[in-house]
Amino acid sequence: MAVHPSSETFPLELRAIGNFRRRIAGELILRGEPGYEEARQHWNAQVDRYPGFIVRPRDAGDIATAIAFARAFDLPLAVRSGGHNGAGLALCDDGVVVDLSRFDAVTLDPTRRIARAQPGATNGKFVSAAAAHGLATTTGNAAGVGLGGLTLGGGIGWLMGKHGLTIDNVRSFQIVTADGQLRTASASEHPELFWALRGGGGNFGIVTEIEYQLHPLERVLAGRVVIPLADARAGLQALRALDLAAPDELTTMARLVTPPRIGPALVVDVCYSGDDLAAGERLLAPLRASGLPAADSVAPMAYANLYAEAEPMPVGLRFSGVTTTLPVLSDGAVEALLVAAASRPTPFATIMLQRLHGAASRVATEATAFALRAPQYFLTATAAWQSGPAEPQLAWAGGVKELLRPYAGSGSYVNFLGRGEPHEVRDAYGPNLARLAAIKARYDPENIFRLNQNIPPQR
Ligand SMILES: Cc1cc2nc3c(=O)[nH]c(=O)nc-3n(C[C@H](O)[C@H](O)[C@H](O)COP(=O)(O)OP(=O)(O)OC[C@H]3O[C@@H](n4cnc5c(N)ncnc54)[C@H](O)[C@@H]3O)c2cc1C
Repeated sequence: MAVHPSSETFPLELRAIGNFRRRIAGELILRGEPGYEEARQHWNAQVDRYPGFIVRPRDAGDIATAIAFARAFDLPLAVRSGGHNGAGLALCDDGVVVDLSRFDAVTLDPTRRIARAQPGATNGKFVSAAAAHGLATTTGNAAGVGLGGLTLGGGIGWLMGKHGLTIDNVRSFQIVTADGQLRTASASEHPELFWALRGGGGNFGIVTEIEYQLHPLERVLAGRVVIPLADARAGLQALRALDLAAPDELTTMARLVTPPRIGPALVVDVCYSGDDLAAGERLLAPLRASGLPAADSVAPMAYANLYAEAEPMPVGLRFSGVTTTLPVLSDGAVEALLVAAASRPTPFATIMLQRLHGAASRVATEATAFALRAPQYFLTATAAWQSGPAEPQLAWAGGVKELLRPYAGSGSYVNFLGRGEPHEVRDAYGPNLARLAAIKARYDPENIFRLNQNIPPQR
């Protein structure tokens, strides 16, 4: 049943909405009310949704109330932490959005090297809070990404080779499940739920707090090497050699993009977190010498500076992307990438490669819900445009995936799926899918939490 808050023809519903408002201690914003337009905004201009109810909860009680309201009126229920999912899964039309973007406290216990974060906290906020005590753990590479979605999907980032994925550093979750109960999921409490939350995304409830293990880290050798597209073949070959020889402490992120004032280029960001920064310099020398770098900012720096210097999200652009995996960066894959880069329909389009490796790859496939544990590149091709029809943009992104299909592995990283097709979600979880579906049936049998990379419940 659709509920229209402004309608005068559904007095029962209006009374229900009044009750809903009275029971929310935080903020409830209805369509048309002050703050609504700002609250429904999304960084991707392709996402234009009109939720019926936006709840900014004060506590877990508000979250349980929002879940109960959505269930009672059979409304779609979306959950927003950082709001970074590219397809806008954190918003919905007509239904309820639980907006956790201001639910973003981070507290530290430096003696025990533990951090507790609410899911709306951004990477940037978390990294700087931990850095104040000389501590860090694996989080994503971009400052603005929310810890909620990032962690629940797995979490790849600069420290994954050394410390594993973000989920490999989670000690516990606090979560409100579909029945409105606030539960702790950890190795000793609800261990099956704890297993599922480490990679299974937003399928099992609304996470209200995450406890992370931290590690000492002060300085890193990091920065950016920019190689003009004309030299990108040599650059990608040097990247392959670097990644294959990389110790756990060295993680790369490569993008085929068009930096302003430079033109089409291969941009490789690096972070070396070993103790001996001179050893890092030696490892990086061949990459830095491949072609004539148009820019090279690699230098010792405080780890938190990697996030302080992060690029702001562009405003007003439309985005749509595809994702796949490459077990190796073969010569064939390099040639396909060069063709894909040369045919980008706008200068904003991006092809990105992030390699899962080291400690993240030494965790058994069945140890957590996250199944893609072999060393491999996660590739995204993202079309980005200002105006005009979407079709040529989508055709380019789809074409990149086709070009790379002969070199692709099976399954994609759920956090890079937009609105994942059912087969993509199945492939992402592979051998862990049946166990996830059974846990889903236990904690969310009605599939209330379905605006995500959805795992239908199955006993
Ligand atoms: C610019 C950019 C850079 C990125 N860099 C990285 C990176 O380096 N490493 C990486 O691993 N990923 C990266 N990502 C992908 C990112 O991890 C996902 O988009 C992730 O979903 C973002 O989390 P969020 O909380 O910001 O997103 P949201 O859009 O708020 O949430 C996405 C989904 O996660 C679920 N969810 C979120 N919060 C909760 C919660 N509290 N309880 C239950 N379910 C919840 C919901 O299903 C929701 O639809 C990047 C994305 C972007 C746009």
